[in-house]
Amino acid sequence: MADTPFVITIDGPAASGKSSTARAVALELGLRHGDSGAIYRAITAARIGAGGETSTWTEDSVLDAAARVRVHPIPAGFALTIGATDAGRFIRSPVVTANVSVVAKMPRVRDWVNARMRECARYGGLVVDGRDMGTAVFPDAALKIWLVADATERARRRSVEMLGRVPSADEVADEAAALGARDAKDQEQTQPAADAVHIDTTLLKPDDQAAKIVALATQRRKPG
Ligand code: C5P
Repeated sequence: MADTPFVITIDGPAASGKSSTARAVALELGLRHGDSGAIYRAITAARIGAGGETSTWTEDSVLDAAARVRVHPIPAGFALTIGATDAGRFIRSPVVTANVSVVAKMPRVRDWVNARMRECARYGGLVVDGRDMGTAVFPDAALKIWLVADATERARRRSVEMLGRVPSADEVADEAAALGARDAKDQEQTQPAADAVHIDTTLLKPDDQAAKIVALATQRRKPG
């Protein structure tokens, strides 16, 4: 169909390099990047802003918080606002990371995020990343990628990103434990699509993993 946008899904566990790879692939192919994890994080940030212990968060109260989150198309992808404020760096903060899986477990919240992600495709071709983009949201995507990496390597990369320096072995071990706990909480919704291409990035440089996906996408985009 002429008006079906070209969609690439990139799914995988925490810190497997999904978002940075998706951003690079989108830039290279002139597509928009949609980060579903950022939307779960923005909802979590909005719910934190409404106050109360995490244990008291009901699904209705999280959906009320979600109603303050807006997804705006920009040339490179989508910007998120919470109320009148840019979602900004707070959505990457430890307090949001620690609580996002609670929000992501709520079925009506997942439906809300999935609807926003489908709306992103109204603006044309997309590279989306998350946990269930190739299964629940874009089952007909032209190319589905399942990105994995060794747990210690994922923890090392995440530590470098957060600390902005070479981390100590203890810092990497702490991060590996935190990532393992988040993977366990997210396991149910983190599944590869049956037709996904699996890429292990443990030994790959970021440019190489993006180039691999761009090459696959270029093949699939060829007419006929
Ligand atoms: O990708 P990122 O680590 O930023 O995602 C944050 C959280 O959002 C994940 O830990 C998970 O709980 C949730 N998530 C999800 N489904 C997605 C994307 C993210 O449940 N498609």
